[in-house]
Amino acid sequence: MKILLEGKAKKIFYSKDKEILIQHFKDDATAFNNKRKKKFVNKGIINNDISANIFKFLNENKINTNFIKKINDREQLIRKVNIIPLEVVIRNYTAGSLCSRTGVKQGKKILPALIEFYFKSDKLGDPFLGEQHIEYLNLCNRKEIIEIKKLALEINTLLIKYFKDIKIILVDFKIEFGKLKNKFILADEISPDSCRLWDISSKKSLDKDIFRKNNGNLLEAYKNVSERIKKKYNEI
Ligand code: UDP
Repeated sequence: MKILLEGKAKKIFYSKDKEILIQHFKDDATAFNNKRKKKFVNKGIINNDISANIFKFLNENKINTNFIKKINDREQLIRKVNIIPLEVVIRNYTAGSLCSRTGVKQGKKILPALIEFYFKSDKLGDPFLGEQHIEYLNLCNRKEIIEIKKLALEINTLLIKYFKDIKIILVDFKIEFGKLKNKFILADEISPDSCRLWDISSKKSLDKDIFRKNNGNLLEAYKNVSERIKKKYNEI
């Protein structure tokens, strides 16, 4: 199959149908704007599983996503959408760059959830964008920003419960949207690569912070998340 693009953790291929693409999950992990890189054997298989289960759950809960179905260990069929170059971050507890930027201690509950936007640009290092910058750059208009924020909060409410039911705290996560026929569609992936997930009792990280901080077994943690999902929600 012909490749459309290769990202840090995924490749996208064309399929026979021009409206459908194949999303392939790689084993590579990157952090600190590509400065740290490592391969974790089978990470791609675990993330394909986790993300497919989460997107299936969101589809079933009336969120429009680009996910169609998982087709093998590492790949899923997705609808082709025009990706909006924004990373939408939703935060329920303080962590990561929010703490370093504001000086607030990690682990404080945020209510209502904070929504932030970053410009999806490796060249610029994914800088933070205010809502007016998004309008100025013509990435979205005012009405669209409001719509994206509403969708992000709906997804957050669904996912907080989804993870709470498997004894995991959804600390924060990053999502991306595409547009198809003037409608916003959730795209990309939702996995421990793009979320902060803490075990409810030990508060230990079950996500990419293990790689960022080099303080544990990343694959074991990702597998743990995947197994909890399969046990509770049935495997795809
Ligand atoms: N995140 C992501 N991709 C990015 C930046 C952030 O998936 O390019 C996720 C990250 O895993 C975390 C959330 O978004 O779950 C918030 O990340 P933060 O802004 O704290 O940045 P970081 O600490 O990763 O620099």
